[in-house]
Amino acid sequence: MTTYKNPIYPYRRPAELDVDITPHCPIIIVGAGPSGLAAAIDLALQGIKSIVLDDNNTVSVGSRAICFSKRTLEILDRLGTAQKMLDKGVTWQQGRVFFQDREVYSFNLLPEEGHRIPAFINLQQYYLEEYLVDRAMELSDYIDLRWQNKVSHVDSLPMQSLVYVDTEDGFYQLSCDYLLVADGANSKIRDMLGLECKGQVFQDRFLIADVVMKAEFPTERWFWFDPPFHPNQSVLLHKQPDNVWRIDFQLGWDADPEEEKKEENIRPRVQAMLGEDVEFELEWASVYTFRCRMMDSFIHHRVFFVGDAAHQVSPFGARGANGALQSVDNLAWKLARVLKGEASSSLLETYNTERLHGAKENLLNSTRATDFITPKSRISRLFRDTVLELAEQHPFARTLVNSGRLSQPCHYYVSPLNGADDIGFPDDLCPGSPAKDAPVKRDGKEAWLLNQLGNRFVLMIDGRADSARYQSLVAELSELLTLHIELDLVIIGPSPHFFSQLPRCTLLEDSDGLVSERYGLTGDGGYLLRPDQHVAARWKKFTASNANDALDRALGKHLTADANIKGDCHVTA
Ligand SMILES: Cc1cc2nc3c(=O)[nH]c(=O)nc-3n(C[C@H](O)[C@H](O)[C@H](O)COP(=O)(O)OP(=O)(O)OC[C@H]3O[C@@H](n4cnc5c(N)ncnc54)[C@H](O)[C@@H]3O)c2cc1C
Repeated sequence: MTTYKNPIYPYRRPAELDVDITPHCPIIIVGAGPSGLAAAIDLALQGIKSIVLDDNNTVSVGSRAICFSKRTLEILDRLGTAQKMLDKGVTWQQGRVFFQDREVYSFNLLPEEGHRIPAFINLQQYYLEEYLVDRAMELSDYIDLRWQNKVSHVDSLPMQSLVYVDTEDGFYQLSCDYLLVADGANSKIRDMLGLECKGQVFQDRFLIADVVMKAEFPTERWFWFDPPFHPNQSVLLHKQPDNVWRIDFQLGWDADPEEEKKEENIRPRVQAMLGEDVEFELEWASVYTFRCRMMDSFIHHRVFFVGDAAHQVSPFGARGANGALQSVDNLAWKLARVLKGEASSSLLETYNTERLHGAKENLLNSTRATDFITPKSRISRLFRDTVLELAEQHPFARTLVNSGRLSQPCHYYVSPLNGADDIGFPDDLCPGSPAKDAPVKRDGKEAWLLNQLGNRFVLMIDGRADSARYQSLVAELSELLTLHIELDLVIIGPSPHFFSQLPRCTLLEDSDGLVSERYGLTGDGGYLLRPDQHVAARWKKFTASNANDALDRALGKHLTADANIKGDCHVTA
């Protein structure tokens, strides 16, 4: 067992056990793992209540996810849990790749300065979940988190879902406008509804050995192909908090998982890797296999699948929980807008469009990495070893080495919600892309751009416009803000103070010039950003009328209702 003591959350008898009616709520979430908890928090921050049902009474047990990416942490920063993760986690950005007895190259995942969040942190999944539970409890006016409430059956109807829940005191029933299914990779609800998750099962086994030691290794990701201490297989090393080191040993398909998990068989492997005189304690051992698969559609009537229930990948590339958090980020604001009556339900179909794209990207990367790491034919093994030989001397070969392409933010390049792009530069901030961070000053104090965006639509414009235009600009903005109560304004300056007379307006100073540089912003230019911090549209010369059109588009007003999700729905509880 790990030295971490899993918190035990109390079961409380649900009031519904004592009533004859079926209470109705806007949103029910099945599963209090990373996906379900993050979804409840995101919805709460946007004013939407939910009930979260989990069949267990604690956070994740043992060793699962450890690598959390920059984008995930940015999302969690918006949700209010990133600081705790940064404080506890091990920050890293450097990786090294070894082949047999030598290093072939190293890489840096975030070579530039001026970002609040690092490229990656390593942190045990149970800490992430514990911090999410803490945050959900802070938002208890919005989140009704019910432990040891197991969903045993779901009826998915065109206009609502019926949810049947088992507890130690008996059984009760709820109905909801939208059901979020976040019950993990082996989703019973997915099976119950006769829905499939299609893809590939990989015939290989990996041993996780988490060891406690005070080691000299740097805080970097080290990956070995065919090392002398574990010939013909691969090994991965990562540092975690509490002096815990994660070592993943590839074992091959024929390995016996029960035998491999025995401490007497793990010790010689670890000792051969670390050296005979290094002392360590084995904290956790498990053997895993993995699948790369996803559903054809994440929506069934009013049931939405998120996280591992919708898509699963191999751990190489750390795209499981990182991908799940990006899906939650995508769905929550859309549900909130529909439930508040600000958008029609056709907006929800874009969860499918955008996140199917994200899941395919993750699956492709994860499958390619797995094929490279575990070649299954003589030819693919020869190709891999040749690439590794060449990589030491020839940079072109390094692009072919795949020890897991680590989770990247997803860009929704072809989303139907994307509006105009007449800036055209930089490419990675075109509509559909997540916003980039930069240092700014707010009220003379140091701050970060991303912390000024999110949860609501934001129009970010450059306030260093031609002074002859100020008067008319303020009038235009004032009208736009009156028309769209969901819109906030961020003015990048230094800019004249008369902007501050506008409602919901934040004045920022581009203290290091990095906002202008990263966004290609010049006087009169502007960006419209969605509540999930993705770019909706951008203009060289902003006008209220083009912002108005882009807002309508980002809310899906041009889309026709999809047959999959019928009717509009408003908050009922
Ligand atoms: C070895 C390993 C290493 C990994 N490493 C990484 C990594 O480094 N980075 C990364 O991003 N990802 C990683 N992952 C993937 C990551 O662990 C998952 O993607 C993540 O846990 C998915 O979260 P989830 O909330 O969707 O599902 P889960 O974490 O599986 O949560 C599902 C929840 O639903 C509850 N539940 C299930 N059925 C019911 C029911 N009927 N009623 C009520 N509640 C129910 C469960 O109790 C659980 O709390 C790794 C996975 C493994 C196995």
